[in-house]
Amino acid sequence: MPVAENSDVKTYFPWLTKKHHNYRGTIQLLRKGRNWYIAIPIQVSSALNQEVNVQAYTPIGVDLGLRHLAVLSEPISGKRQFFSGKEVGYIRRHFRSLRRSLGKKKAQRAIERIGQKETRWMKDYNRKLAKNMIDFALQFDRPLIKMEALDDIRQTAKSMKKADRTIHSWAFYQLKQFIKERAVKHNIPVVDINPFKTSQTCFVCRHVEKDNRHRGAFQCKNCGRKTHADLNAANNIATSTSLAE
Ligand SMILES: [Zn+2]
Repeated sequence: MPVAENSDVKTYFPWLTKKHHNYRGTIQLLRKGRNWYIAIPIQVSSALNQEVNVQAYTPIGVDLGLRHLAVLSEPISGKRQFFSGKEVGYIRRHFRSLRRSLGKKKAQRAIERIGQKETRWMKDYNRKLAKNMIDFALQFDRPLIKMEALDDIRQTAKSMKKADRTIHSWAFYQLKQFIKERAVKHNIPVVDINPFKTSQTCFVCRHVEKDNRHRGAFQCKNCGRKTHADLNAANNIATSTSLAE
């Protein structure tokens, strides 16, 4: 029996409900009128677990970052799609300058409202982005999405101010959640990849060197191949066999 919380059905211990993603998959205790229910979640599709037979799928590498929010690549066909981070950067700066213009203490309420507006905008944007990414994946036969485990994004964002970093890792976490949720709807499995050196490794000759990558550009010190750094990473992710724990 699917359970939805509404005015009749009340969930007890709300931190156990699916609104709190970390606890998804836990038993829920609910009350409807005089009756009490226990909801036991079952996972209908095994799409999210990593026991998928990866060989039977067309792997699509997803590189998430700041220059590009996402680069998707299917290395066999060579098809790829870049999702720019420009719009998000622009909107962030816009909201930040709005907050600044309001001064410090006197406009605290207004500043909070702007913060909420930004959060809503980001959520909406992430939802659309996840949809477009899944649409890209759907052009392939039996697509499989591979993404890096989240830790690497914090690394990418190391140079940023602490507050910006927090917003970023939160936004990326949300984006990954939306991608996973949407993928499940279309029966597309998603696997997390160990992010170890995916951005420093040459996709063609497998040579690993930090200097292979220079900002957005990738040029292999061994074979000389030049390509886009995020695309090179997406290709490595697509072909990676190192699943994250
Ligand atoms: Zn190379």
